[in-house]
Parts: sequence; structure tokens; C-alpha cells
Amino acid sequence: MTPLELGTGLAYLAAAVGFVVGLHLMRTPSTARRGNLLSATGMAVAIVATLVLAISGSSTPTGWIVLAVGIAIGSVAGVLGATRVKMTAIPQLVSLFNAVGGGAAAAIALAEILRAPASSPLALSVSIPIVLDVLIGSVTFSGSLIAAGKLQGVVSGRSIRFFGSRLLNVVAIVVALAASLATILLPVGPVAVVGLLVAALAFGVLMVLPIGGADAPVVVSLLNAFTGLAVAMAGFVIGNEAMIIAGALVGAAGTILTLQMAAAMNRSVANIIVGGFGAGPGGSASDSDDAAADVRSLSADDVAIQLAYAQHVIIVPGYGLAASQAQHEVAELAELLEQHGIDVKYAIHPVAGRMPGHMNVLLAEVAVPYDDLLQLEEANRAFENCDVALVVGANDVTNPAARRSGNPVSGMPILDVDHARSVVVLKRSMSPGYAGIPNELFGLPKTGMYFAEAKQGLTQLIGAVKQYVTS
Ligand code: NDP
Repeated sequence: MTPLELGTGLAYLAAAVGFVVGLHLMRTPSTARRGNLLSATGMAVAIVATLVLAISGSSTPTGWIVLAVGIAIGSVAGVLGATRVKMTAIPQLVSLFNAVGGGAAAAIALAEILRAPASSPLALSVSIPIVLDVLIGSVTFSGSLIAAGKLQGVVSGRSIRFFGSRLLNVVAIVVALAASLATILLPVGPVAVVGLLVAALAFGVLMVLPIGGADAPVVVSLLNAFTGLAVAMAGFVIGNEAMIIAGALVGAAGTILTLQMAAAMNRSVANIIVGGFGAGPGGSASDSDDAAADVRSLSADDVAIQLAYAQHVIIVPGYGLAASQAQHEVAELAELLEQHGIDVKYAIHPVAGRMPGHMNVLLAEVAVPYDDLLQLEEANRAFENCDVALVVGANDVTNPAARRSGNPVSGMPILDVDHARSVVVLKRSMSPGYAGIPNELFGLPKTGMYFAEAKQGLTQLIGAVKQYVTS
């Protein structure tokens, strides 16, 4: 082993340790920032080690130009994309990153195929990872682009099925299998490689098109796991340990996240891929109108009085808080109440918002102490002793209909907001949430609806509370 090989090997080992320890730190909000930083440092070390290997290898001037241009475009697009994106658009950015990761992994395998001698079949230890890399990477590339399009509204968020789509799916699978076998068993030929690539790309599109836009975040998480697998396969293809480890970690983390998201919605991953959640009955304008007739409407003053005379308040943030970017106002209201001796906590549902950890990220942005965040079970115990539950832009995660069977949220673990002594719901109208069904919480005698846009409503509420708490 040369000193260079030893040095880069050790650097890859250090990077891998950084990834693993970083992921471990990401398990709780209080250490997540450090975990992110450590993992990013690990990735920087791996990139530098790879560059050192590249410099010491034999590359042509054209190769260097392609590398430099690729790094420049990737870095600029990555930095601009990540710094400019709105928090609510993170899922589509992640999906684009998945597409790029899967596509890059597939490109590595394709480059290896192009370099292979055309006279004899490749060794199985090379051809199998190559085929898996092209297959998984290409499915991830095209599927992630469609998922990002659905989330961004560029592709229709409805479940898209067309005449013959099932047959096309079967054809894509058969062609992909035949081309895979040909690439593994026969000398490398252009027909099999192009067939493999086209079939995998088509399958990615056909797999994601029927998924309702509302389920796209779960699919993005699944495709994230696919990206990891494709990268691990690419690592086997070019013998790069850092890629194998990083890819395997992303694959495992993506799979766990997908399963957790599905569990928090009480659905199976298969049901999400095949079903059309949110596209079902319920949530029509007339439903909302009927429900609106039965609810008690509150003014900012009414809510302020309830809050000012409460001892224990629990704030339940949801997607509407994120959409309105009202995290500053919600934190200001909580601080105001706490200054006057009122205990304020936040109840965090694992799938509130539109991406895992959405509410944690928003509240961390405004420095809400981690100890004030109650996770589902802890929150449900606390509602029993809560004077006012203030629901801000959350809907499905509080719907008592989940306790009954026969509706789209059946079985989903919910925040037991209805166990609080009094409930105030801040949202703009009676429109349903993501699941598209009316919320039975809104019609309960203990619930009052404070109809407002979250940011404006909270600002008015802060003004009103000040009148009652300043002595
Ligand atoms: P919901 O989607 O159920 O409801 C959000 C509510 O926010 C709406 O009813 C809307 O009512 C209100 N709202 C929207 N904009 C504003 C605004 N500017 N000001 C005030 N209110 C607003 O959100 P939840 O967080 O309760 O639930 C999340 C849902 O998303 C769950 O069904 C979950 O399964 C799903 N999901 C979550 C994922 C995740 O990882 N977190 C991933 C995929 C799906 P109105 O229009 O009347 O204001």
C-alpha cells in the first residue's frame, strides 16, 4: 500500500465516522445542528481525499475541464438552491437533490460500461453492481423529477393514470429485466445498455405519476433511500469505500424515515404508492359550508381573554404556520404569556406540516427551547391538564375522526387536543387539510374558531393579550 493509498483510506475512514456519529447526533433536536455539521465535515474530507486521488491519477486536460466545470455548476446551483429556498419548498429541493444523486450514480456506471471491452462479458462482480446502479439511479432520477414537479405544482398533483399505463409499466419492467440479463451475461452492447436506461427512466416516471401530490413527500423519502442504494452500487463499481458507506447510510436512513412517516399516517408504504390519499371523497366546498354553520367563531379579544387567564397553554403548530411563516409571532406570543407566569408548551406531531421535523425546524429557527417541545405521547398526557389548546394552522393531526374507522385519517395517531379544557383553532376558513376531510374538532362545544391568516391573526392576538396581561 502506497502512502497516498494509506492517507486517502484513512481520510475515507474519518469521513465515514463523521457520517455515522453525525447521524447519531441528528436523533434529537438539541444535538442535530452539531450532527449536521459533523456529517458535512465528513463529506468535505471525503471530497478532498477524492480530489487528491484524482490529481495523483492520470487525467486528460479535457477530463480536468469537465471536472472543474461540474464542480463549479454543482456548487453554485447547490448553494443558491439551498440558501434561497423557502422552508415550505424544502421537500421539492430534496427531491431535486435525489434526482441529481441518482442520475450521477447512474452516470458513473454508464461511464464504466463505455470503457468495458466489447469482446467478452464483464466479471459478475462488476456487471451486477453496474446494472443495479443504472437501474436504481435512473428510476430515482426520473421519479424524483416528477415528484419535485408535483410538489412544485409544475406537474399535476392529482393521481395521473392513463389508458395503457399498466401495460406500459409491465413492458418497462420486462425490458429492464431482459436488458439487465443481457448486460450481465453477454459482452456489453449498445442495445442492452440503451434498453436498460430507457426502461428504468420510464419506470421511474410511471411509478410516481399515479401518486397523489399529497403523498409526494413520502415518495421523496423513499426515492432518497433509492439514491443511497444507487450511490452505494456506484461505490462498488469504482471501488470507492466512502461512496459505499455513505450510500448505505443514506439508503438505511431513507428507509427508516419512509417507514416512520407511513407509520405516523397509519398507512403502509405500498398503500401510499398504490393509493390516492387526499383525492378521495370529503372536503368539498359544501361540506365545509355545512360545517361552518355549526362552529363558534371567536375574535382576537375572545382568544386573548382565554389565554390571559389560563395557567397551562399548549400551542399546536401545523402546516398553516409554516405556510404563513408565522413562527416569529407564535414564539413572541408564547414569550409574552410566559412573562406573565403562564406555562406554555408546544405539541409536535411527527407529520405536522409537509416534511418530517417541519415544526421542529421552524421553532428552532426562532430559538424555542427544546424542553418546551412535547412529542406526541408526552403532549397527549399534558392535554389533560391544559386550559387552552391553541391550534395554529394544524388540521388533520388534531382530527378526532382518526379514532374511528372508515375515513382517510383512520388509525393515524393524533394529538388529543379535544382533551384540553378549551380549544382555539386559528386558520383562515373551514377548508380541510391535506387529507381532504372535515375536522370534527371544529364542531365541538369546547372549540372556538379564530378565523385569520396565521401571521396576521397572531399579531392581532399579541396586541389583544397585551391589554389583558399588562398591569
Ligand atoms: P393540514 O394540511 O391538515 O392542515 C393545514 C391547515 O392549515 C389547513 O386546513 C389550512 O386551513 C391551514 N392554513 C393554510 N395556510 C394557512 C395560513 N396562511 N394561515 C392560517 N392557516 C393556514 O396540516 P397538519 O399540519 O395538521 O397535517 C399535516 C398533514 O400533512 C397530515 O395529513 C400528514 O399526514 C400530511 N403529510 C405530512 C408529511 C410530513 O412529513 N410532515 C408528509 C406528507 C403528508 P385554511 O385554508 O382554512 O387556512
